[in-house]
Amino acid sequence: MESELKPMDSEQLREYAHKMVDFIADYYKMIESFPVLSQVKPGYLKELLPDSAPCKPENLEDVFDDIRQKIIPGITHWQSPDYFAYYPSNSSTAGFLGEMLSAGFNIIGFSWIASPAATELEMIVLDWFAKMLKLPEQFLSTGQGGGVIQGTASEAVLVVLLAARDKILLKAGRKSLEKLVVYCSDQTHSAMQKACQIAGIFPENFRVLKTDSSSNYALLPEVLSEAISKDLSFGLIPFFLCATVGTTSSAAVDPLLKLGNISKVHDMWFHVDAAHAGSACICPEYRHHIDGVEEADSFCMNAHKWFLTNFDCSLLWVKDRSALIQSLSTNPEFLKNKASQENSVVDFKDWQIPLGRRFRSLKLWMVLRLYGLENLQSYIREHIKLAEQFEQLISSDSRFEIVAPRTFSLVCFRLLPPLYDQDDGYKLNYNLLDAVNRSGKIFMSHTVLSGKFVLRFAIGAPLTEERHVVAAWKVLQDEATILLRGS
Ligand code: PLP
Repeated sequence: MESELKPMDSEQLREYAHKMVDFIADYYKMIESFPVLSQVKPGYLKELLPDSAPCKPENLEDVFDDIRQKIIPGITHWQSPDYFAYYPSNSSTAGFLGEMLSAGFNIIGFSWIASPAATELEMIVLDWFAKMLKLPEQFLSTGQGGGVIQGTASEAVLVVLLAARDKILLKAGRKSLEKLVVYCSDQTHSAMQKACQIAGIFPENFRVLKTDSSSNYALLPEVLSEAISKDLSFGLIPFFLCATVGTTSSAAVDPLLKLGNISKVHDMWFHVDAAHAGSACICPEYRHHIDGVEEADSFCMNAHKWFLTNFDCSLLWVKDRSALIQSLSTNPEFLKNKASQENSVVDFKDWQIPLGRRFRSLKLWMVLRLYGLENLQSYIREHIKLAEQFEQLISSDSRFEIVAPRTFSLVCFRLLPPLYDQDDGYKLNYNLLDAVNRSGKIFMSHTVLSGKFVLRFAIGAPLTEERHVVAAWKVLQDEATILLRGS
């Protein structure tokens, strides 16, 4: 590897890329030997790397050495089978190959003309996916709606909020912005709040409706109705509701049908965020969790979470694409072309924030083709089965309690505090989480539900097997024993 790297030389690319693929395959082989959660201290890398970029080329072998010695210690291994934090973020062989292909073509498919295959494959793959989820026909590209790949669920909720805002302002007048009200629950992802901040929704008109354990942290329709009535009585304009299937904290499922009906009565845009749990709904036995999606104006799920598709790949469907386009389209001279002017094509630049866009459908297409629906369903079922097993392990140890019912592959639990514990186990569970994560053996995260500090065990990494779940449970039990002995 002594030769200088050229910007593009097919034979050199072949040689170097083979080496890189070997490196990544070896990484996966060794992944269990690394601490799952990086144990470095803030600023560690500045100490290890030079202050400025090299003037002369360096060779690839030296870069590999740095990756091994300096970068990998600072990696938290999301693909580790012992990764149980936040939510899964799947890589897979098919997803990786799709990413490679996309990097190889490196097209920027903002308009149809910029790479017709990129637009058309995206439309086809999103239609396939909509059919797998049994979404209503209005979400298909053959009607007034269609699907589009966004970078993240945060971008997805932002673009539909902008579309909904502009639609209502067209009716109510642009000066009505201060009256527009957005509804969600206290379990809705913070992406909703960020979208409101960007869209100029007045902070006092952002309604975060309370949930509690009596509804398993789902948003109650009567709570929504009450809030809407109150806002109407003050002359405000309810215009947007976000419901979630699989909340980030506890995977709670909002009752879509009833919430959707309320939205319809008040002519509000109804967005369903199924970023994490949407994947499970490709299995007939979990599809009922999105019953009521018929009432939604938009639906989002992240293929880059629990669907073997490398980040980023957030799928958004809308029933009325013209609302998105009206809000987000521009038509500068330098982008004008015959196909766009004739309105015979889709230009996805008008369905998203940036102009540039990657050929992301390739990796999803590869995942769907190289695994097939039946394997993908088994993949989901296997994780849910492992979560059931983990739940049983917790239930078998009277020192622990399950805090919220498990619906998919996320288990929410805590170590029960001793009687008269001052903060009801907050510190105890905080310390337990800290201890297991510092061990480097597993990585978990937490949430707070009804004031309780809760541990989240999210299963969904492609390499996770029963033995990893059993070993994780042993780590938790051992650390709990140490902590309880000291308390
Ligand atoms: N919505 C839900 C329910 C999520 O769980 C998440 C991620 O945790 C998001 C939205 C945000 O996802 P993204 O990182 O794609 O914006």
